[in-house]
Amino acid sequence: MSDEPVVVVGAGPVGLTAALLLAGRGLRVVVFERHLVPYGLPRAVHLDDEVFRVLQAAGVAEGLAEMCRPMAGLRLLDGAHRVLAEFRRAPGAGTNGWPQGSFVHQPDLEDVLAGAVAATPGIALHRGVEVTGLEQDRDGVAVAAVDRGSGADRSVRAAAVLGCDGANSTVRELIGARMRVLGPADRWLVVDARSPEPLPVWPGVHQVCDPRRAATFMPVTGDRYRWEFRLAPGEPADPERLVSLLAPVARAADVEVVRTVEYTFRAEVADRWRDGRVLLAGDAAHLTPPFVGQGLGLGLRDVHQLVWKLAAVLRGEVPDELLDTYQAEREPHARALIRVALLLGALMTGGGRSGAVARRAVLAAVRRVPAVARLATGSRTPALRRGPLVDRRGRAGRRLAGTLVPQPEVLVDGRWCRLDEVLGEGEAELTADLVVRRADGTAVRVEDAGGTLRRWLGPATAVRIRPDRIVRSARVRAADPRRGPIRCTRTGAPGTERASPAGPETSQW
Ligand SMILES: Cc1cc2nc3c(=O)[nH]c(=O)nc-3n(C[C@H](O)[C@H](O)[C@H](O)COP(=O)(O)OP(=O)(O)OC[C@H]3O[C@@H](n4cnc5c(N)ncnc54)[C@H](O)[C@@H]3O)c2cc1C
Repeated sequence: MSDEPVVVVGAGPVGLTAALLLAGRGLRVVVFERHLVPYGLPRAVHLDDEVFRVLQAAGVAEGLAEMCRPMAGLRLLDGAHRVLAEFRRAPGAGTNGWPQGSFVHQPDLEDVLAGAVAATPGIALHRGVEVTGLEQDRDGVAVAAVDRGSGADRSVRAAAVLGCDGANSTVRELIGARMRVLGPADRWLVVDARSPEPLPVWPGVHQVCDPRRAATFMPVTGDRYRWEFRLAPGEPADPERLVSLLAPVARAADVEVVRTVEYTFRAEVADRWRDGRVLLAGDAAHLTPPFVGQGLGLGLRDVHQLVWKLAAVLRGEVPDELLDTYQAEREPHARALIRVALLLGALMTGGGRSGAVARRAVLAAVRRVPAVARLATGSRTPALRRGPLVDRRGRAGRRLAGTLVPQPEVLVDGRWCRLDEVLGEGEAELTADLVVRRADGTAVRVEDAGGTLRRWLGPATAVRIRPDRIVRSARVRAADPRRGPIRCTRTGAPGTERASPAGPETSQW
């Protein structure tokens, strides 16, 4: 394995999460961030339960969850703020082991991630250093950077480079990738405020479906509230208008406006996410309007699915071609969610002026478009498409492959824990009798009090689960007699047994 580090460009939430995941797989990481201090203002405000599992893998979910507010769901309102439709989400842990939706203050997330990075020995974070050039050869990448304080040039050799450098990505430009536009850009006024007295609002997302003034508002965390108002073409983002804009929800005099910013919501995807050992992730690879709260979530999914593949390549276990599956898997998923966001945006801003027309349009669309229905009524995002790492053959394969295995609490040797803690770092197999066979050859039997796993497996007798907890394949057939019954020998760690005679099948990569 090369002892050169992986260089991560950008210490936003996606770059910091990537650094933690890489270090978790034993890789040395150098992070370059051009700004000296983190961006302290709120941006993303929502994370779903699938994404919380990524933060769990990075070791920060527990700490962050204490700072979040479970999201009660989505309400679609008409121009007079009457409820057109309501989609509730349960506040407790859902299928993925975390609340289906959580409000988050992005600076809290970045603080928690930066704290974890500082406490991880394998990561060196350099703030105030801007990456300016990349040159690839057969053995890796030469990264050129400049110290913005002293003006001194810095350069480092990297085994690979992750461009997590946001919407105006330098890395994207350096590899010659371009953004493809998926829908119209829209100007919005984003208002963040704090209120000493709790405002009487439902603790979910409110989307005002009014073509005259589409808007979104929500309580975020603690005393923080977010409003977003669509601006008409040519309309100035005039803070003087705030009094009337906030009026249906709050008296402007009663809240402290932390910031107002005009923000252009864009729907774009990069045409190329990889050039050799240089890869894009997060806003560098895609931009979405925020209507389903997935901008940041898409980026966190990117690095969860990329890091284990990159680690396997850098350890020399698989050829570099495995990295071709990264964009092939992530781009259709990102596009699907961006399309849902565009659709919801269109519903908010179109649908006619009368409430009745808007109601019909909204409800019909929610029923008609499965991806909207799934995201409105739950938090499940689309399954990954068929590919070398997603085998959708057979009935069980079509139903389960490409989806995330649920994460119930399971009992192992008298101790309750989350399923991901049992699955380990590598690929694992879960059988119908709830035995987990791990990549290191150990096996463990789990109990799932609520029966979530058995219900989810249905007639499937076994599923193979990738390191990012996505089902690679599922089969429905009698157990292979060569495997025999699992004979268990303790190997030390509680709940750990050595499987015999066979470990999991070896992968084609
Ligand atoms: C005003 C605003 C409101 C938003 N609202 C929402 C929302 O409501 N919901 C939502 O989901 N998303 C929202 N977003 C988007 C969300 O914040 C992003 O999806 C998320 O921050 C992306 O994270 P990232 O790590 O990919 O990029 P960023 O957070 O942008 O981080 C990229 C980092 O790279 C650094 N960098 C750039 N170039 C270089 C270089 N050459 N060398 C070194 N460092 C470099 C930058 O300084 C930055 O710190 C909003 C964004 C903005 C700006």
